[in-house]
Amino acid sequence: MLKVTGIHAFYGAINALRGVSLEIGEGEIVTLIGSNGAGKTTTLMAVSGVVPVREGSITFLGEAIHNLAPDEIVRLGIVQVPEGRRIFPGLTVAENLDMGAFLRTDHKGVRSDLDYVYSLFPVLSKRKKQLGGTLSGGEQQMLAISRALMARPRLLLLDEPSLGLAPLIVRLIFDIIVKINREQGVTVFLVEQNANQALKIAHRGYVVENGEVALSGAASALLHDDSVKKAYLGFDN
Ligand code: ATP
Repeated sequence: MLKVTGIHAFYGAINALRGVSLEIGEGEIVTLIGSNGAGKTTTLMAVSGVVPVREGSITFLGEAIHNLAPDEIVRLGIVQVPEGRRIFPGLTVAENLDMGAFLRTDHKGVRSDLDYVYSLFPVLSKRKKQLGGTLSGGEQQMLAISRALMARPRLLLLDEPSLGLAPLIVRLIFDIIVKINREQGVTVFLVEQNANQALKIAHRGYVVENGEVALSGAASALLHDDSVKKAYLGFDN
């Protein structure tokens, strides 16, 4: 579904990505793990068109997307949940969800997707009129994922959804990611520092180090790989 081939990206003189290549098949959950500053967010930003690709290519369902604008990429069905949620704090829960459906004109579909996200996260349906900025961190993450779902993604890009959340909430969010993948057939590209949890729900994984893919394979194999264990799995079981 998504093919990233040898991409390079820069912030000024900083070479953040140095030839990253990876593939995501339709229906998969693929995770990208790595330490701080390794290039995980930049890879997602390159896919969603926010960070320019200097070299290499990205194709989605066979179509080159690395020269498209972010809104054109969203229209193709690639939707990102950014790191730190980035919901609209001054808008209500319901208004945040409306914003997710901004590009859609199929009102019936929007209504049924709204019912679906409220069924995934009943707490949001109880807080429809509450301002996004007054929600807890976990609820804001639920809202950010729900807002992305309102855009009907084919490929959902999740940037560190576990960041700053209590273990119980992380488990709930990860269970929901699996549910969305299974029930809605949404393909998921999950960037995580919480490698342990991410590899437990993913089908396959990539490890990025210094802007390059250092290792890849079945998530279960990476979970038992000694170098992965040593570098990334120490802090959380
Ligand atoms: P984290 O888990 O901390 O978010 P990451 O793996 O997502 O890390 P990136 O955010 O992709 O890493 O950063 C890759 C490299 O690019 C790092 O060296 C980082 O310092 C640099 N970088 C990221 N964003 C910017 C920016 N806006 N301006 C300059 N350098 C940046």
